[in-house]
Amino acid sequence: MPFNDLSLDPRLLRSVQHLGFVKPTEIQHEAIPAVMVGRDLIVSSQTGSGKTLAYLLPMMQRLLKSRPLSKRDARALILAPTRELAKQVYAQLRLFVSNTPLTSALIVGGENFNDQEKLLKRQPNIIVATPGRFVDHLEHKSVFINGLEMLILDEADRMLDLGFMPQLTVINKAADHRLRQTLLFSATLDHAEVDELALALLKNPHRVAVGSSHQQHQDISQQFYLADHLTHKEALLQHFLQQSDIKQLIIFTATREDAQRLALLCEQLGRSAVGLSGKLTQSSRNAVMQAFATGKHQVLVTTDLASRGLDLLQVSHVINFDLPKHAEEYVHRIGRTGRAGAKGQAISLVGPKDVPALTRIEAFLRQPTDFSVVEGLAAKFDGKLKTAAETPIAKAGKKTAPGKTKAKTTKPVQKAKAQFFEGGDDGLAPVRRKQK
Ligand code: AMP
Repeated sequence: MPFNDLSLDPRLLRSVQHLGFVKPTEIQHEAIPAVMVGRDLIVSSQTGSGKTLAYLLPMMQRLLKSRPLSKRDARALILAPTRELAKQVYAQLRLFVSNTPLTSALIVGGENFNDQEKLLKRQPNIIVATPGRFVDHLEHKSVFINGLEMLILDEADRMLDLGFMPQLTVINKAADHRLRQTLLFSATLDHAEVDELALALLKNPHRVAVGSSHQQHQDISQQFYLADHLTHKEALLQHFLQQSDIKQLIIFTATREDAQRLALLCEQLGRSAVGLSGKLTQSSRNAVMQAFATGKHQVLVTTDLASRGLDLLQVSHVINFDLPKHAEEYVHRIGRTGRAGAKGQAISLVGPKDVPALTRIEAFLRQPTDFSVVEGLAAKFDGKLKTAAETPIAKAGKKTAPGKTKAKTTKPVQKAKAQFFEGGDDGLAPVRRKQK
């Protein structure tokens, strides 16, 4: 079915044509008609499936066709977990808004509050925001949403992982009336808090599930390589950097420090590289993303900050220098390549510390891992956790007290549990959350 058959406003169709899109993607085909008849919606979708337009188009349609409930209040609010994703959504929204009398604003953390207050005084119809900063403005009464017609939550699971449930509850209460339509998008619906949120926010929602996040992405080839230690990982990285078919590459690391160190290493190996981490100020983060998006750098080295949502069409390769702690995050990271029908390659390096994460990824994808080997760089490590009997202490002949064997076997997992890692949007301080 072409876009023309969706009964969209001609101004919206013109923008769609301008983008060169002819047919709705599967998720757009499922979601747009349901939203246009006024239903609430809960959607789980694979990354890169075209979800942004699946909500922008019917949202714009409703705002263009119906009279505002209030002149002062925002009419639609789109919430996203990170500033980067919010900016990307806003950029797409601007394209559609520019053809119409509707107005819009972007409100994210890390930017000047007073400037945002001035923007909000102009009473924009549509706001794209991160939850923390938006609630700050609600509390300062610089924005009102009593007459909100559409509330859209993009990557709701990630917002909840980042601890935004209290802010989402405040926003829900501030716009609590029966005419509000609510759309919730989440990579996964196997998430207790998403269920809880859906129950609180949505009325008799239409459910759409397109391509489960457990499914293999057909445009992305995935390889796993074993590595004995950090130096071995760096040697493998050096090997992969020599591949000639790299257009752009994102390297994911576990720590901010590694993001900067590996960016330097890539530079030394002749690839123009830049590091992104939550440690940077918002303006530096913007500058880094801008430089990468415009092709000024070929390699972006980052923590999970850039694992979701970002739509960078030139990314041909993703390397997981360290595996992510959460299995869903793996799917999001590799989803930075293979966008909009392009082919991508995802390479994951698995050292002894990555084994618990690998086990979770295998369980999530519901398939065991086949390891590939680079000639001359084979690992001695076999990809299995050491048993207590093989630990240096046991080998040195120390006696293990009866009943303690089990605790020793699982020690690496316990250690991983005690770690904290960085979240997303919250001004300059990173959100810290305990691993589940
Ligand atoms: P999203 O899942 O919204 O991040 O979109 C993923 C990519 O698909 C983006 O580059 C979109 O511009 C692109 N896209 C969205 N809708 C369509 C469509 N109907 N036809 C072709 N590409 C699309």
